[in-house]
Parts: sequence; structure tokens; C-alpha cells
Amino acid sequence: MSVHKTPVHPDIERILLDEPTLRARIKELGQRISADYAGRRLTLVGILRGSVVFLGDLMREIEGDCQIDFMCLSSYEGKGSTGRVRVLLDLREDAEGRDILIVEDIVDTGLTLSSLLDLLGSRKPRSLEICALLDKAECRKVEVKAKYVGFEIKNEFVVGYGLDYNEKYRNLPYVGVLKH
Ligand code: 5GP
Repeated sequence: MSVHKTPVHPDIERILLDEPTLRARIKELGQRISADYAGRRLTLVGILRGSVVFLGDLMREIEGDCQIDFMCLSSYEGKGSTGRVRVLLDLREDAEGRDILIVEDIVDTGLTLSSLLDLLGSRKPRSLEICALLDKAECRKVEVKAKYVGFEIKNEFVVGYGLDYNEKYRNLPYVGVLKH
């Protein structure tokens, strides 16, 4: 068997989280979530589009009854956060009475998730929590607490594993820092 190594994209300065690191951490998150929601019907709400790769891997590490739904919000253009959140695509099913776990790629200022928590919270779910792959805690403008966090990272712009820059790089299998 040959050992396959993913070549690093020329626009990437360095790999921050490689595939084995991501896989191992997501397995741990899946185990914790499975234990916390045992016996309950969990709804994972993926925030499009950045969370799709993470969601796809995370859901396969969750045991038990689990369904998925999606929302698409707009709040971020290019490399700067505008702080405005618009719902471009809403849940297909009613949130009332459900155990909802928001699955997000990254928490930066927290503005997106704090608006989303207000919105979904007003729909009276049974529970409402956040699972974020990445957390730039030092960049917070509003307080948002994610119950599950994959990795805390520094304030640098990252792409790959679902995260984009102008819709590029989402398909990279690792999380990397973009060259300036
Ligand atoms: P917040 O509202 O917390 O400032 O922003 C959250 C959103 O900003 C994320 O869902 C993501 O789309 C985008 N974002 C924040 N930091 C980064 C980053 O380093 N790389 C990429 N690709 N997107 C980011």
C-alpha cells in the first residue's frame, strides 16, 4: 500500500490542522455529543456553506438518533465581518420542542451566532447549543459560548475543510493559513 500525502496548495502558507488531527478531534466531539444526547433525538443544524465538510464528518461519529437540517446566513463578505445577519435559507422543520445543535465552521466576532441564537431561541426549542470546529476566542465582539469546540485558534484567516476565501479552497482536506 502506498502512503498518500496531500500536496499543499500553493496559496497556503502553512497547514494548521492536518487530516489526522481533524479526524481524531471530531471523533472525540462525536463521542461527547453522543453521550450528552443519549436517548434523545438530536437535530444538527448545519450553517451553510462553511460547515458542510465538518457536519458530514461529525454526524458519522454520532451514535443514536440524529437528523440534519440547514440554514444559510449572510454576514461575511471577503475578509471582514459586517456584523449583519440575514437568513437566506431557513430550517425545513419547526424548531419547537427539538434538541438543536448548531454546527458552525468558525466563531470569530460571535455576531453571526449570537443573532442566530436569538432567532432560534425564540422558536422554543427544547435545547439549543453550538458545536464549532474552530474558535477565534480573542476576536469576540459579543459573548457567545459554544458547548463543543474543536480547536481554539489565533486570529489568522484560515481556509480549507469547508472554509473559503471568495468561494475558493473549501475542498482542501486540511485547515490552512492563506498566504497574504
Ligand atoms: P462571526 O460572525 O463570528 O464574526 O463570523 C463567523 C463567520 O465568519 C464564519 O461562519 C465564517 O464564515 C467567517 N469567518 C470568520 N473567520 C474566518 C476565517 O478565518 N476564515 C474563513 N474562511 N471564514 C471566516
